[in-house]
Amino acid sequence: MKTTKKILLPENEMPKYWYNIVADMKNKPMPMLNPKTKQPLVPEDMEALFAKELVKQEFSTERFIEIPEEVRQLYRIYRPTPLVRASGLEKALDTPAKIYFKNESVSPVGSHKLNSAIPQAYFNKIQGIKHMTTETGAGQWGSALSIACQHFGLDLKVFMVRVSYEQKPYRRSVMKTYGAQVFASPSAETETGRKLRQLYPETSGSLGMAISEAVEVALNQPDTRYGLGSVLNHVALHQTIIGLEAEKQLEMTGDYPDVVIGCFGGGSNFCGITFPFLKNNLTEGKTTRFIAAEPASCPKLTRGRFEYDFGDTSGYTPLIPMFTLGHDFEPADIHAGGLRYHGAGTIVSQLKRDNLIEAADVKQLESFEAGVLFSKAEGIIPAPESTHAICVAIKEALKAKEEGKEKVILFNLSGHGLIDMAAYEKYFSGQLKNFEVDEKEIENNINKLEKLAK
Ligand SMILES: *Cc1c(COP(=O)(O)O)cnc(C)c1O
Repeated sequence: MKTTKKILLPENEMPKYWYNIVADMKNKPMPMLNPKTKQPLVPEDMEALFAKELVKQEFSTERFIEIPEEVRQLYRIYRPTPLVRASGLEKALDTPAKIYFKNESVSPVGSHKLNSAIPQAYFNKIQGIKHMTTETGAGQWGSALSIACQHFGLDLKVFMVRVSYEQKPYRRSVMKTYGAQVFASPSAETETGRKLRQLYPETSGSLGMAISEAVEVALNQPDTRYGLGSVLNHVALHQTIIGLEAEKQLEMTGDYPDVVIGCFGGGSNFCGITFPFLKNNLTEGKTTRFIAAEPASCPKLTRGRFEYDFGDTSGYTPLIPMFTLGHDFEPADIHAGGLRYHGAGTIVSQLKRDNLIEAADVKQLESFEAGVLFSKAEGIIPAPESTHAICVAIKEALKAKEEGKEKVILFNLSGHGLIDMAAYEKYFSGQLKNFEVDEKEIENNINKLEKLAK
């Protein structure tokens, strides 16, 4: 661990607005479709499921959207988060590149997820909603929404992907501590869950299945709404506070990023760190590169197809225009549970189609190798998800060394891994492996989709 430099933003400079990139996109994202009529979704279609104000944000084309003062007050518990010059990592790699990371692991729940959980609970609360439901992969989103709901006096049911429920018992305890009810998904609580358990008795669950369960409960109970921790436009919007702060902090150093990297599950932290900089590419002619780091075992952006697909396994959600592996895709049991999702959000999918962002895949073993190197160099043990971004940042830094070029690399440290030590333990004892995805499997899943994308 070397002396690293923290760039702190004064509290009164914390952004007052979220940034909505849709305003600056030449090719707007295609609309989501009502699965029954195949017609573009209208806001009213979503209001049974999400709080009205969040639906409004979902459809908004306004460039900046004000952050309510009550949300800002809670953000101030941990925001602005530090931007860190990773001198230790630079030294370990002996690279001429300057590496910076935005440290979202300092939030009370240990990840960026709280940035959207707080406003989601808030907008539900002011509408008079009493109960929320959600799903969680690794437990990060569930933990974040649990404490946010607790704060605003809402009760919460969390459907947690079974493999994580078993692999990550402590995250389950975190949610309970914050007052939420937690079920292993597929569960016996819902019709969907019971059906899935019959169909696939051995299943380790998936985010798609858990979403189906949480949506079912929200649609069938009064005063209940659902909260989603990624994928949707309003979630990406809330996360832009990461990049907006980072932009101001980098300005303080005099540097500007040549490449910005985020790990990629459904896209929320990637969108959060990149969109404010991508704005400058779109409106000021900057030429920064943006790389989404995804697991090789769940490669929607690098190997998936752009199609209309469901966001869940059972087809309860609208049809979403996205890069997808097909909603039947069952990802391998990798430890980066938050990245085990078959699709990407509509905005980020359109940006990928237009070649405004890139994607890279990372194998499980190289992700942990990067995580261990980073831990030793910087002292922070990263979440298994975040190690994917670190791995790509390291590759970029080594490329800079080969080319003898100075370049500025920025990545998002989406969370810490202190509740994921069982995964690190397995890595050390040689029990982890890489997973290959068969091209046939992707093709079969995609072939089942109705081809509605133009
Ligand atoms: C949930 C999670 C992710 C992946 O979700 P995105 O919406 O793609 O950001 C990444 N890192 C951590 C620590 C997470 O908790």
